[in-house]
Amino acid sequence: MQEMRYEAPKTLAAAVALLAGASGSARLLAGGTDLLIQMRGGRVEPELVIDIKGIPEMTSIVAENGAYRFGAAVPCMALVEDKAFGKAWPGVVDGANLIGSIQVRGRATVGGNLCNASPAADTVPALIAAGATARIVGPNGRREVPVEDVATGPGTTSLAKGEIVASFLLPKRPPRSGDAYLRFIPRTEMDIAVVGAGINLTLDEAGVCSHARVSLGAVAARALLVSEAADALIGTKVDAEALKRMAAAVSAACRPIDDKRGTKEYRIKVAGVMARRAAQIALDRARRKD
Ligand SMILES: Cc1cc2nc3c(=O)[nH]c(=O)nc-3n(C[C@H](O)[C@H](O)[C@H](O)COP(=O)(O)OP(=O)(O)OC[C@H]3O[C@@H](n4cnc5c(N)ncnc54)[C@H](O)[C@@H]3O)c2cc1C
Repeated sequence: MQEMRYEAPKTLAAAVALLAGASGSARLLAGGTDLLIQMRGGRVEPELVIDIKGIPEMTSIVAENGAYRFGAAVPCMALVEDKAFGKAWPGVVDGANLIGSIQVRGRATVGGNLCNASPAADTVPALIAAGATARIVGPNGRREVPVEDVATGPGTTSLAKGEIVASFLLPKRPPRSGDAYLRFIPRTEMDIAVVGAGINLTLDEAGVCSHARVSLGAVAARALLVSEAADALIGTKVDAEALKRMAAAVSAACRPIDDKRGTKEYRIKVAGVMARRAAQIALDRARRKD
């Protein structure tokens, strides 16, 4: 077993310098709920582990003129317990609140969930539906990237060497907006999504859907943004017919695998059902807001 160096920088710049300057394999450590399991299983053996939980801008939740910025190393439980955040973005909280157990959520972060790049990651479809952008900081500066463009496939991301996801920005919400995330798992607790569906929508004063985003998890190599499904909702009162067309567009977009949790055909069918149910919750939430 090789020696491992552990660093806990206090600034983002120091973390980037360590990661970019590493000559051997290096990994960021956020909550460690994926990384430590991979290390113990021998799947990764980093020479350098950089703990990012002590970096203030990566561990804070800040309201910015109606928008929200939260650090990539904020534990899911902190998002779940932030009442104002939960009022603004209940669907994002739905995703964060489904990760593992309360103990896991006390450690697990949204940045880790995204960068581990599992197609079934529960926070990712909710963030994509929300229109979230990731702030990525690296040796060549800073860039803002839509969340749907970060994971590129199972276990792979678009991050270049030395780059870190620093934080996420959730845009200011118009009135009458609501979002929701639902997943299907074969057990009642602690399982990986067979299908996940995130929906975000806004209604105009007449109750007509003026904006929508639909995202799916676990039905392709990475989470999908399904614009055809959103188009089926926009311009409607999100009635039964619109939901049926949205569910059909969702099923048509799925490119799932067969595995022990479900066949392709099963996932395609369940995706439509989950999306329809999530849209109904998002609609109810939008109607409750002024
Ligand atoms: C018992 C158990 C149950 C679980 N249940 C679920 C579940 O229901 N749903 C689900 O989606 N996941 C689940 N997970 C997986 C895991 O908890 C999540 O993926 C979690 O969000 C990972 O976050 P973390 O902070 O622990 O990541 P870490 O393990 O610290 O990091 C994961 C990967 O991302 C990289 N990374 C971390 N932060 C950054 C960053 N800011 N920038 C760039 N790279 C970064 C790390 O280097 C590492 O490669 C479960 C895990 C366990 C152990």
